Amino acid sequence: MTLTPTDRFDSLHDEFDRNHLWHPYTSTHNPLPTYKVDGAKGAVITLADGTELIDGMSSWWCVIHGYSHPRLVEAARRQIEKMSHVMFGGFTHEPAINLGKRLLEILPGNIEYIFFADSGSVATEVAMKMAVQAGEKAGKKDFITIRGGYHGDTWNAMSVCDPVTGMHGAFGSDLPIRHFAPRPECRFGEDWEPEYFKPMKELIEEHHQTVAAVILEPIVQGAGGMYFYHPQYLRELRKICDKYDILLIFDEIATGFGRTGKLFAYQHADVEPDIMLLGKALTGGFMNFAAVATNRKVADRISKSSAEVMMHGPTFMANPLACAVALESIDMLLESDWEAKVRKVENRLKERLSILKDELGVEDIRVLGGIGVVELSEPADLGRFQRRCVEEGVWIRPFGHNAYLMPPFLAITEEQLEFLCDKFILILKEFLSKNG
Ligand SMILES: *Cc1c(COP(=O)(O)O)cnc(C)c1O
Repeated sequence: MTLTPTDRFDSLHDEFDRNHLWHPYTSTHNPLPTYKVDGAKGAVITLADGTELIDGMSSWWCVIHGYSHPRLVEAARRQIEKMSHVMFGGFTHEPAINLGKRLLEILPGNIEYIFFADSGSVATEVAMKMAVQAGEKAGKKDFITIRGGYHGDTWNAMSVCDPVTGMHGAFGSDLPIRHFAPRPECRFGEDWEPEYFKPMKELIEEHHQTVAAVILEPIVQGAGGMYFYHPQYLRELRKICDKYDILLIFDEIATGFGRTGKLFAYQHADVEPDIMLLGKALTGGFMNFAAVATNRKVADRISKSSAEVMMHGPTFMANPLACAVALESIDMLLESDWEAKVRKVENRLKERLSILKDELGVEDIRVLGGIGVVELSEPADLGRFQRRCVEEGVWIRPFGHNAYLMPPFLAITEEQLEFLCDKFILILKEFLSKNG
């Protein structure tokens, strides 16, 4: 029997899944189709009917070495045979110790303490709790952030996401109130003007007595708008935070481990945060894991707070399996020529995507490191877009107005990257001509 295109798609959609499983941000009434995946290797995702897709998303930006990398699989297997988990209360283990040592080698020089958490959103919660505990004596418990940010889906994390683009508008008035400065108007690569920092400066001057910390994504804002801003903004921020004794929290969950062309995005500005969040590519995208790193000042203040201890401790804290995989992933990254690889991807994305710059309906094109964004004047119809991607053999999932490529930069070959760009441009042009 030969399958018509429609039959083929039916074989990729699962009835039970459609009727009983929630997917990210979906309705049970009319969910967008999901495609059944059978396996993934390198930069290729294989669907249940054998269709191969070149991955342009890195599974929401976490995969760097590619899927099922033999070294990560082996690291997991070695650890799983010893113990996959043991509680971190009262116990410690080699995977946590070795990962902690490696992280202190690559994190900013002032960082001395690490808290291992389960996911990015939990890391945001932990960081905000740290800041509140550290600010207790001085009566500082509020937060300042910038518009266009994204820090996760849990309650406190939602409160510092962009109120409009951060996907949490539904909870609006029930969330704790935070202070928002406008998105930094000066883009990465443009000339800096002191004017650009004025709104943040004024906000801090007005509220500094009650503000525990400023939290933001350094240089690259991810899910809140896929936007790149000027490093000088972070330098100015560091100065004024020091002046008013406000902690600076960098959320590097999306930007860490090479994605922006530096090992961490703060290195574009060369200023050190008081608290730094890691997640996503921490395990090379192999499994969920996150970390919160901080300096002695914060740790000391927490120890001198009324609770005297850091008030958090998840069941799966410092999960040995995740620690072992994370350590292997970081070692692989450091042993590789990642800088050259990211630069290559960056150059190709710049060259290829620039072809769209005069298309009607394209607002902006921006590329930094392994991230290439095409901002559209109208959001693309996601269901139709994904279907065209699957038909063409690529995996790309736009976020509202932003269609983007974020391939697994250490795994994708030159040919695969060209293919991905070809198809991205082809599909975008189709959508632009239909909208126009
Ligand atoms: C993805 C992301 C988070 C949330 O991480 P989860 O693991 O999805 O909870 C937080 N901050 C940033 C910058 C992110 O990109």
